[in-house]
Amino acid sequence: MYAQLPPEASEHLKDVLEEGKVSLMKFMCNQLESSFRTVESPYMIQFTRYSTAVPQPGLEDAYPYCTYNLLPFPGIPRPTSNTPRFLDVIGQITALSDIIPVQSMYQPQPSDTRTIILTDLMGNEIKILLWGARAHEFAAEDVRAASIESAVVAIFVGTLPKMSQGVKLLSGSSACRWYINEDLPEINAFHSSLGKEVAPVAVYAPIDQGIGASICEPPVEMTFKQLLALDPLDNLGKPFICKVTITRLGSDQRWWFLSCVACHKTAYVNGPRFRCSDQGCSSVGGEPAYSICTFATDGSAEAEFNVLRESWQNSNRQTTSNLAAAKVSRVFTIQRFATLRR
Ligand SMILES: [Zn+2]
Repeated sequence: MYAQLPPEASEHLKDVLEEGKVSLMKFMCNQLESSFRTVESPYMIQFTRYSTAVPQPGLEDAYPYCTYNLLPFPGIPRPTSNTPRFLDVIGQITALSDIIPVQSMYQPQPSDTRTIILTDLMGNEIKILLWGARAHEFAAEDVRAASIESAVVAIFVGTLPKMSQGVKLLSGSSACRWYINEDLPEINAFHSSLGKEVAPVAVYAPIDQGIGASICEPPVEMTFKQLLALDPLDNLGKPFICKVTITRLGSDQRWWFLSCVACHKTAYVNGPRFRCSDQGCSSVGGEPAYSICTFATDGSAEAEFNVLRESWQNSNRQTTSNLAAAKVSRVFTIQRFATLRR
């Protein structure tokens, strides 16, 4: 049964209630809410300030150490607005990432994450993304070391399904917990179904991840001169901070163009519709887009910026008339700088 401790009850019970220990308890029994269920039961334990828990040492062997409701990977549902229950899975840990800060669009500060790849006996994989304290509590070095000797099999409980870039994954935060290579029936059965071959846990390096999130390495502050000396191919996706002053408009005074709605390349009028300049693009939609050519400097070097519609909409809303003297401080990725012409 799921149990809930209000703050006043947790004060006197938090030191007594311990995983793996048996207690005789006094509590209220309530109906369980219909969402975020941890176990399948119509009722839940509600502790109150009058609740008591008296340890019963010596009874541990008569009770299961932990409980879970393991779901095969193909049965993991797509996330919905009404999340009926937390999910529990078992698999072999085949890859692990380091701690990676991720900037979620819903939080002001980046959160630390760790990605774990679990593989089932059929070879299916599922990605588990641990957040915050859970990412730090996961003993990655111990798992890597253990995997040199034998397979590392883990049960993760209390995860939630999420979608990231069209791929299902499991997210683990405060409700998530794991049991690694413990003496549990399902873990033992999994071990005996595995072959004798041992492949140490690989390092997982995500290209991009997150739930409405993107990887956020702390931006490095640089001068224009340093930035222009970087090889764009070695620095893809890295954010940099460069404070520059826009000093003049470029020689190309055209400030808008017809843009393909599908690929944002130049589009041409084609009768009542449009035609994309990319031969391989079949889109017939077009719309005007800003493309403002400017020069900017920070004193160390000067570069030409092509400020395209989306980057301009995201920055301060300058009009073309006051653009020439605008001071901007923006974070540009190296991809945007790759469009710079020296
Ligand atoms: Zn196109």
